[in-house]
Amino acid sequence: MKSVETLIIGGGISGLSSAWQLNHSGREVLLWEAKKRMGGKIATHSDQGYTTEQSASMVLNFRPEVSHFLNESGLDNHKLLRTPTSRRYLVHQGILQDMPMKMAGMLFSPLWSLPGKLRLTLEPFILKGASENESVADFIRRRLGNEMLDKALSAYVSGTLASDPELADSLSVLPHLTALEQRYGSLTAGVFARKVLNRKKAAVTEGFSFHGGMSTLIDELSKPLLGKIRTSHSINNICRHGRYWLVTAQTPEGEQNCLAENLVLCTPAPLSARLLNRLNPELGSLLKAIDYASVSVVHLGYHRQQVIHPLEGTGFLTPWREKLHLNGSMWMHSLFKDRAPQDHVLLSNYMGGARKPEIATWDNNRRIDSANRELKALLGIKGDAEWTRIDVHQQALPLYHGKYALRQQKIADQLITMPGLHLNANYLGGVSIRDRIVCAQNLALEMSRRDALKQQSTLLATRQTCRA
Ligand SMILES: Cc1cc2nc3c(=O)[nH]c(=O)nc-3n(C[C@H](O)[C@H](O)[C@H](O)COP(=O)(O)OP(=O)(O)OC[C@H]3O[C@@H](n4cnc5c(N)ncnc54)[C@H](O)[C@@H]3O)c2cc1C
Repeated sequence: MKSVETLIIGGGISGLSSAWQLNHSGREVLLWEAKKRMGGKIATHSDQGYTTEQSASMVLNFRPEVSHFLNESGLDNHKLLRTPTSRRYLVHQGILQDMPMKMAGMLFSPLWSLPGKLRLTLEPFILKGASENESVADFIRRRLGNEMLDKALSAYVSGTLASDPELADSLSVLPHLTALEQRYGSLTAGVFARKVLNRKKAAVTEGFSFHGGMSTLIDELSKPLLGKIRTSHSINNICRHGRYWLVTAQTPEGEQNCLAENLVLCTPAPLSARLLNRLNPELGSLLKAIDYASVSVVHLGYHRQQVIHPLEGTGFLTPWREKLHLNGSMWMHSLFKDRAPQDHVLLSNYMGGARKPEIATWDNNRRIDSANRELKALLGIKGDAEWTRIDVHQQALPLYHGKYALRQQKIADQLITMPGLHLNANYLGGVSIRDRIVCAQNLALEMSRRDALKQQSTLLATRQTCRA
């Protein structure tokens, strides 16, 4: 039977970045992944000159830890910055309108009514709320007014997180905004204070992919782990064996077992729930109750001349009130110059999420027809797409709904009772690639801290024995 210091289960970005960090910090690691390929949700496909992303299309980073990680792993050399366009759009009454990113822009935008604009200016005078157990919708309504929620934030939450703002937990989904309110009393005061206090060290938000697409992130992180990754290893049982974890996987060569001092589970919540339920029913039920949304990504390629809209910008998001099937569209040829053949455009369109679960049951023709029809009206497109590809994720993203911050705390409390077991996946600490990398770094730090504490107490015990 194999034995290893740290066994990581799941080869998505959560598992791979954890393995990379732990290996980099000098630990003996082994990673088991169920599928034949690494990357989980992340994969890049190339066909007839179009390069598409199965899920994540770019990293939006403002965390210095992520910049450090990219530098250490050599990924900096593979980074492909998005073209420096700041234009993004919101659908408003069936028409694309520029989405203002600054307060001054909002005040002059046709998106908001006069009362809506006046309400925005009141933000600094709104008293600080309790914030705990407040939904994203209630938080935004309270601080910025109903119009801000209806016309902008609902589009962001459903378009980028597939979530329902009325159910999503503000503390978990908008941690930076809720922290600004708690610390400075208002978002306006918080943004202003941060600008003044952090003038020199303020992190700039950078959007990027990699040369060759997001698969390069997976390939480059896998390289230093050569010989430490096993694909086609589908874990079906975990149990305690003395101070070790005994893990069993189904492989093409039959059943494999491995003993590990540390076990890092980077698999989706429903599977982690099933594996852990017998060992800790409370943890099992906390994980089992996490819901997932389905998302379909409809990639459509057109000849440039088919589209009247200039398509200069990153794309658009759709507020719910617009009653469209598209949650948003990313103009990939405009973001990254190598994503479509010359004189062609590539629009990657997102459908589904918590508020449109029925789209998961549609067939692909219906998804394409619906996306084509809505894009024709918004962008002035003549004819149908020349090229199509569809990626359907039935369990695309975990929904941080209900009292999610409390759920995460309860999960952490249960883990304290199971030494050597760690959970690191996108249902804890954020779904973005940026958050996944930060969580992997925190995991490595936490494991080193625990080792140091263990060593200290062993040393203390030895000294006491010697004295006695
Ligand atoms: C459509 C879409 C668009 C997105 N866009 C962006 C974006 O632009 N930017 C961004 O930052 N984020 C984006 N995200 C979010 C981000 O891509 C995901 O949150 C992230 O990739 C999830 O990584 P993970 O490792 O936690 O999970 P996964 O990628 O799901 O990995 C879990 C792994 O566990 C493995 N596994 C499952 N069962 C077993 C088993 N029994 N034994 C062993 N292994 C097992 C799976 O095969 C898989 O490889 C997007 C997500 C989606 C769905």
